[in-house]
Amino acid sequence: MVIQETNTLKQAKGNCLCGQVEFVVDELSQRVHTCHCDTCRTISGGPSFRNHSLNMDTVTCSDWGKITIFESSDTGERGFCSYCGTQLFYRSKTRPTISLNIELFRDILTNVNFEAELFCLSKLSHYSFANDTEKLANE
Ligand SMILES: [Zn+2]
Ligand SMILES: [Zn+2]
Repeated sequence: MVIQETNTLKQAKGNCLCGQVEFVVDELSQRVHTCHCDTCRTISGGPSFRNHSLNMDTVTCSDWGKITIFESSDTGERGFCSYCGTQLFYRSKTRPTISLNIELFRDILTNVNFEAELFCLSKLSHYSFANDTEKLANE
């Protein structure tokens, strides 16, 4: 793992809780966002943190066959470890992009920048973040 001046990590490695699914990413941005939409909150038990979208061809998975895919909308799908249930990613069905659960990359979590909150119109009142983030209403 090498931290670059541009806040990206070369060859970042991450894995699910049981370790059967591992991702290697050519370049991982340290910029992360959360999403307050109903789907993300239901799947995760609350808002979870993902990195900004990556090109699919920059992500290598140890075994795509160990991942269960759930089509969460007409435009996107979610991937989970078929063994431990860890939420792995959101993937677009219309573009070749993927947004990984940043918590898979445990080595870098002290270096991430929480920059944006998506779908703030769907945020419930029983929680809020104190971080200074960009707040997007409905995207
Ligand atoms: Zn697993
Ligand atoms: Zn969401």
